[in-house]
Amino acid sequence: MSNNGETGSATVLEVNNLKKYYPSVKAVDDISFEVNAGEIVSILGPNGAGKTTTIEIIEGLRTKDEGEISYFGRFKEVNNEVKNRVGVCFQENSFFEDLTVSETIRLYKSLYEKSLDTKELIEIFELEEKVKTRIRHLSGGQKQRLAVALAFVNDPDLVFLDEPTVGLDPHARRNLWEIILKFKSQGKGIVLTTHYMDEAQQLSDKVYIMDHGNIITAGSPQELINSSGLESVIEFPEESSALFEDVIIAGEYAYLHTRDTVSAIRKLLESNVTNFVVRQPTLEDVFLKLTGKKID
Ligand code: ATP
Repeated sequence: MSNNGETGSATVLEVNNLKKYYPSVKAVDDISFEVNAGEIVSILGPNGAGKTTTIEIIEGLRTKDEGEISYFGRFKEVNNEVKNRVGVCFQENSFFEDLTVSETIRLYKSLYEKSLDTKELIEIFELEEKVKTRIRHLSGGQKQRLAVALAFVNDPDLVFLDEPTVGLDPHARRNLWEIILKFKSQGKGIVLTTHYMDEAQQLSDKVYIMDHGNIITAGSPQELINSSGLESVIEFPEESSALFEDVIIAGEYAYLHTRDTVSAIRKLLESNVTNFVVRQPTLEDVFLKLTGKKID
């Protein structure tokens, strides 16, 4: 569904049959996906699934072995125009600690042909009180907000956000979600990688779950939940997991996916297990079922 890359529902990124093999591992093994303008697409997967390799190839930081990448329906490689239209959430450790917040924003602005107004960016990310503060004196959360702000400094059409809310408290995370959704509503295509499944569920239009270099499933969060066949999930302490055949154990908890909730609850109660929770399945449950791993 590639069109000219300039209109509302245009494809801003198309990846076809991408491969990257290292001597001992097929890090990316023939994956394809696309991102449209005004869409948030999440790439999820357990450690080592191939997410970073995929994203860094697209960003032009690593070479691919095979496959095609198309940016904005027009470009096959990261040229100057692509660089000007792509935003990346830099990790906080790539900051210059002695620069102030406004100096940092100005530095990043200078790398691009066009950029957002510094004052506007600072307001959006609620960094007004820290404009003159050196990076070394920011809290972890403030640094993280600045890192995300810098991804939008050039008013990009395609944005890569790698763990954008890591280390933020729940309130600050929700604030940042609102900001990200606002940018999405302006038509930016956003690629999100996150270890927070609730974040992916809240924000994503489409989710691609990777494991061992492959995309093992794709769809909207609700589509993935519906097609997973999960009806309800019962969470209970891991020490009682032997009561059922098909439970997933992750940390101190066991997760039973069942269509027969009543029988499962009866079994737990008959075994004097009363500290359980019954709930609707989430994206995290789909992830657990598909990969057998809890993301952390
Ligand atoms: P994480 O969530 O832990 O960041 P990931 O999904 O981003 O994981 P990648 O970093 O893309 O995974 O790694 C995919 C696989 O490729 C892993 O098995 C990793 O060990 C391997 N790999 C990555 N980079 C290299 C490299 N430069 N040389 C050899 N193997 C590599």
